[in-house]
Amino acid sequence: MMTASPHIDTLADLVRQSSRMVVFTGAGISTESGIPDFRSPGTGLWTKTKPIDFRDFMASEEIRQASWRRRFSGQSRIEQAEPNQGHLAVAELVQRGKVSAVITQNIDNLHQNSGIADEQVIELHGNSTYAKCLDCEVRYEIAELKVQFEAENRVGPCRACGGIVKSATISFGQAMPEAEMARAQRETLACDLFMVVGSSLVVYPAAGFPQMAKELGARLVILNREETPLDDMADLVLHEEIGPTMSALLARLD
Ligand code: NAD
Ligand code: ZN
Repeated sequence: MMTASPHIDTLADLVRQSSRMVVFTGAGISTESGIPDFRSPGTGLWTKTKPIDFRDFMASEEIRQASWRRRFSGQSRIEQAEPNQGHLAVAELVQRGKVSAVITQNIDNLHQNSGIADEQVIELHGNSTYAKCLDCEVRYEIAELKVQFEAENRVGPCRACGGIVKSATISFGQAMPEAEMARAQRETLACDLFMVVGSSLVVYPAAGFPQMAKELGARLVILNREETPLDDMADLVLHEEIGPTMSALLARLD
């Protein structure tokens, strides 16, 4: 399916003119893979399951186990999800050398699954497809923890150090990952075109990156179904569906 939006031609021009692009993604790029976003009216997760705050997670064993129960209860569609046309189009732009890095707020691993190398994906909010000990950072596979949870009705402490094991995501109230924040900043400073794909741009500090890019002279494009607080400062705003729009963009670049 092709989008008829005249903006696609403008977008294609901006991409052609760019010699170093950053793509910044949010939950919106993964809805076409069957993973609900946070803030879409009606279907957004925000209204259905309130996220657990990091301080509460740390303070209470009961809350920790409740969060694991939630993780394993089948609500998580992340395991079954596959990259959609939007992810594949972004991967193609990386492959062609257009995009130097993908900065993502997503925790679903779908950019990596679409073929982008780990070094080119910057995860600001971590990754929910595995877990880590918060003290020694040893990695645990979710499948292995699920077996334990089903057998013992809990996820126990780290076998190596006794620390708390948590999914490798950054929860509300948890410190942002320093190395990723620094990499994201470097990429933002170096790009001449910054493209937002599927983010409501209300979560900070993540939403500071498009703002920083624009303030430093890069062009800013926002592709998101709904309005965002940064629409006014963008060079181009497309309130369109991501998959068809990204596919149409690629077709115009050929
Ligand atoms: P958000 O839910 O706040 O915003 C998503 C935006 O995408 C919305 O404005 C919506 O209008 C738009 N959108 C949804 N589907 C679209 C489509 N097919 N085409 C065009 N636009 C579409 O997401 P956010 O800004 O990423 O912030 C949510 C936070 O929740 C993030 O920090 C992220 O860590 C986490 N989260 C991640 C996932 C995931 O990994 N897939 C899913 C839900 C939440
Ligand atoms: Zn440990």
